[in-house]
Amino acid sequence: TSNPKKSYNITLLPGDGIGPEVVSVAKQVLNLTASLEGIEFKYQEMPVGGAALDLTGVPLPEETLSVAKQSDAILLGAIGGYKWDANEKHLKPETGLLQLREGLGVFANLRPATVLPQLIDSSTLKREVAQGVDLMVVRELTGGIYFGKPRGFGKNENGDEIGFNTEVYATYEIDRIARVAFETARKRRGKLCSVDKANVLEASMLWRKRVTMMASEYPDVELTHMYVDNAAMQLIRDPKQFDTIVTNNIFGDILSDEASMLTGSIGMLPSASIGDSGPGLYEPIHGSAPDIAGQDKANPLATVLSVAMLLKYGLQEEAAAKRIENAVLETLDKGFRTGDLFSTGMKLVGCKEMGEQVLRSIDSQR
Ligand code: ATP
Ligand code: MG
Repeated sequence: TSNPKKSYNITLLPGDGIGPEVVSVAKQVLNLTASLEGIEFKYQEMPVGGAALDLTGVPLPEETLSVAKQSDAILLGAIGGYKWDANEKHLKPETGLLQLREGLGVFANLRPATVLPQLIDSSTLKREVAQGVDLMVVRELTGGIYFGKPRGFGKNENGDEIGFNTEVYATYEIDRIARVAFETARKRRGKLCSVDKANVLEASMLWRKRVTMMASEYPDVELTHMYVDNAAMQLIRDPKQFDTIVTNNIFGDILSDEASMLTGSIGMLPSASIGDSGPGLYEPIHGSAPDIAGQDKANPLATVLSVAMLLKYGLQEEAAAKRIENAVLETLDKGFRTGDLFSTGMKLVGCKEMGEQVLRSIDSQR
């Protein structure tokens, strides 16, 4: 009797611009990995973003969301482009992404920033500082000042026009992001740095208290705290000191972009957005790159590495994830580079060719 294959349903949301090109490569990588790991993927490809606007008049059709919610994991390419930039606000492709995150209840955004030895010269840091950087920012995604009420415009007592926002965090929101962060740190090097502004902000004081309380459940994780202004500085001064960083929505927005630029290679960086239950959303951090769309120039590796995150964090298929990560490293070792990472002495390839080289490396690990 042969074991029935483990089978997963994957929703593919290619989206706009270079999205379809990089998702197509990632799908091939998934398929080859599946055949080697004895697992099986079934796909449903659905429209989102500008592509969905053109097709259905909305950036996130109901059917796309319902298919996504019923699947085991979602791979998104990219959303947006010049073509839709002039649309009225409620018809922006990017609205589709916000609706998708909200509909899936994904409150944690995981963004690794790793300086690969093969690409160290694209880092914005000096070699000595860049060497060995390997960190993960866990950002709270659905609360905090971006969503807090009251918010709006008004007038103060002098009649001056004002704009105002409110940062609110409830204990359940802090606890659930803290849990994701401790679990992530546990899968990495066991170090967690919680970043806040607890010397000034009440929401941060509560944040620090709840994160500290949870630490007793994770004796194997070393917890430290840092003020956000210091964290911004330390990321440039000595980023190697960080393993996992957990922080609120607005600080995470800023710090994760800062951290990603330490690596200097936007075409290489994946992300995961996950919730308590239900499928996670995996996507490259780069946008739709309309300037190079349709020209076979996009670097597909950010999306390929997003697939590795999907396997590791979404499906607990760590061996399959490792296989893909190793293949990416090997492909870079062989000198293959898309235009965004090209330097003299390297082999310039397009999106498809880069994909084929990754497939070849996966195949050679049999
Ligand atoms: P967003 O849609 O998130 O606002 P953006 O418009 O700020 O993103 P991107 O679409 O990511 O930015 O593009 C920024 C620059 O990086 C462009 O010149 C684009 O060509 C380049 N770029 C982005 N992703 C890739 C990639 N995968 N491969 C090669 N170049 C890329
Ligand atoms: Mg853009």
